[in-house]
Amino acid sequence: MTNSVLGNNSVDNPYQMALKQLEETAKLINLDPGIHKILSKPKRILTVSLPVKMDDGSIEVFTGYRSQHNDARGPFKGGIRYHPQVTLEEVMALSMWMTWKCAIVDIPLGGGKGGIICNPKELSKMERERLTRRYAYSIADIIGPHTDIPAPDVYTGGEEMSWIMDTYSMLKGNYAQPEVITGKPISIGGSLGRTEATGRGVSITVREAAKKLNIPMNDATVVVQGFGNAGQFAAKLVEEQGAKIIAVSDTKGAIINKNGFKTNELIKYKNENKSVKGFKGSTDITNEDLLTTECTVLIPAALENQITKDNASKINTKIIAEAANGPTTPEADDILYQNKVLVIPDVLANSGGVTVSYFEWLQNLRREYWTENYVNERLDGILTKAFVDVYNAHLQYNTNMRTASIASAVQRVAEAIKLRGIWP
Ligand code: NAD
Repeated sequence: MTNSVLGNNSVDNPYQMALKQLEETAKLINLDPGIHKILSKPKRILTVSLPVKMDDGSIEVFTGYRSQHNDARGPFKGGIRYHPQVTLEEVMALSMWMTWKCAIVDIPLGGGKGGIICNPKELSKMERERLTRRYAYSIADIIGPHTDIPAPDVYTGGEEMSWIMDTYSMLKGNYAQPEVITGKPISIGGSLGRTEATGRGVSITVREAAKKLNIPMNDATVVVQGFGNAGQFAAKLVEEQGAKIIAVSDTKGAIINKNGFKTNELIKYKNENKSVKGFKGSTDITNEDLLTTECTVLIPAALENQITKDNASKINTKIIAEAANGPTTPEADDILYQNKVLVIPDVLANSGGVTVSYFEWLQNLRREYWTENYVNERLDGILTKAFVDVYNAHLQYNTNMRTASIASAVQRVAEAIKLRGIWP
């Protein structure tokens, strides 16, 4: 399983990948060797054995992890994934990447990640609930509204977050503490705007990139690979900015219409027909053709490893906005940089999700509910600034946007560690 801030990192050991990335960044920004040592290890790792009574009366023991990488800038933040291939090293790497992600958008949170080795598709709802509650109980002493605030990740969602919120609240004083976790359903403290947040974030970074390249959005043509949650909202919102969506795809195939699709109609069609294929006025193309279609903005919003050394030189766009995690391999990154394609890296382009999670936490702490407009306005402010910061760093370090985003993140975390000092 992969999840990238440096393009494809589908190596056997993601933690080694994360360390290598930190090492390269350290050289680039001349990082203090002591701070480098601190950042090379999570502050705390907890491994828990989780006995669960299965529906047939037998007992199964699952393994769960929580890795807390760094909290110099604020409480640890990061999702919990349920997957048979979860490993401790993957969780550790993801926790480090969360530290960078929160620092890139400059929200006062650090990086954490959790996981349980299990196949949730083979568990009944009751088994999933017992497993989730046992995990919540087992990590309850190291998470908390001011220490570590988990969230959903692969194969976890509102249901699991509700059980964790309830278990934690029962254990710690028996009153509702929604601020211990984000990604909750709205009725127990979830935030409006969360569903669209990732796509909205993508559209904000695209708008800012177009400004830097002096491209009016009215003249922009957009291609979206993967018309799912992130892809649909990104398409809808860049269309609202004036752009034309000329090609889209999903697992069943890709379609094109040079005159532009009406995104709302396309979303309706996709919901009814489970695919974009066959939409009126469209022509079928291959997925490979979709990626190399001439356009102003390419939004990969499906899977990792889509833009590789084999097709990077054929990519005919000015901006790539990585809604998906890890769609571009490192070799492809180099080719795109040489070809002056502006790549908005995943950590920045898809950070709308974590930013609205931060808003959810703030609302819960203050016992407030924000309007959707207010959420969107604040998201716009944060992501616009984050884009400009990374853009300036890429000019300052004369490097691509991906390296620049990690460099500015590491610098922010390093500064926090320095200011706080080492105690005792
Ligand atoms: P999703 O399942 O809603 O959508 C994925 C879409 O991609 C589907 O329409 C699917 O048909 C399509 N797809 C899959 N394989 C494809 C292929 N080979 N070619 C073309 N299309 C293909 O998922 P999502 O939540 O939109 O996530 C998409 C990506 O965005 C993932 O990489 C995810 O990690 C990343 N992401 C999502 C969020 C979020 O909040 N949804 C946040 C951060 C990152």
